[in-house]
Amino acid sequence: MEIIRSSESFTQDYEELSEDLSQIHEKAKHDEINNVNRSFSSRMMGDTSSYFETSTTNRSKIMETENEVSIIENSELYIENLNKNHICIFCEEKNEKFNENTLDQHYRNECPMLVNCYRCQLIVEASSLSYHLCNDCEFKSDYRKCNKCDLAISRNERIKHQRYHNNNKQDDALINGYKPIRCQLCNKIINSKYGIYYKKLDKNDKNYNNNLTMLENKMWKDHMLNCKNNERNKIKRSV
Ligand SMILES: [Zn+2]
Ligand SMILES: [Zn+2]
Ligand SMILES: [Zn+2]
Ligand SMILES: [Zn+2]
Repeated sequence: MEIIRSSESFTQDYEELSEDLSQIHEKAKHDEINNVNRSFSSRMMGDTSSYFETSTTNRSKIMETENEVSIIENSELYIENLNKNHICIFCEEKNEKFNENTLDQHYRNECPMLVNCYRCQLIVEASSLSYHLCNDCEFKSDYRKCNKCDLAISRNERIKHQRYHNNNKQDDALINGYKPIRCQLCNKIINSKYGIYYKKLDKNDKNYNNNLTMLENKMWKDHMLNCKNNERNKIKRSV
């Protein structure tokens, strides 16, 4: 269950992870976010847990496999193990002060991989913010997913955004066969420098999905530590 990786060792390590581990990892992250939002909302505005149950159904569907039960059990063990080792599942920071309770605070205020949705204030992974705005957010009716870049575009930005695509066709070019991924906070393409890593991925490898998920997690981590619109990395840097 060693998940700490330096960027140098990353390419070797992520190939060794099993398909299941990636599913367990994603499921565990999903549960942690649900928990922190649930405790946040019950304190802020009474019990709205039914909202979270429905809003997360889509995401949970990926877990409907025959080994679902073992994934659920394992993801609980996985989190327990991370807590015991004082590691944040999102940013992978190891901090002796981290435990079940303090991690909650870390998720809510500090973790650079998580953001408060700028519309509804719920906590979401930075990598899921576009999806959240279009599908789960209280204000989702204001947004539509751009077919070209997958960003959530608000009603009054649509024309300007379309113009951006028309004038910057080179930005939409595939990166070694993979679609550019943009950050909802700064609109920057986060995977443009990863062509060489994409080349190493083998679509016929049984661990392909796992490897792709791990690579995407790594790209998001690199980006969010530097994203100019991520308030949380600014907090961290000034400490
Ligand atoms: Zn963190
Ligand atoms: Zn929202
Ligand atoms: Zn777009
Ligand atoms: Zn960004």
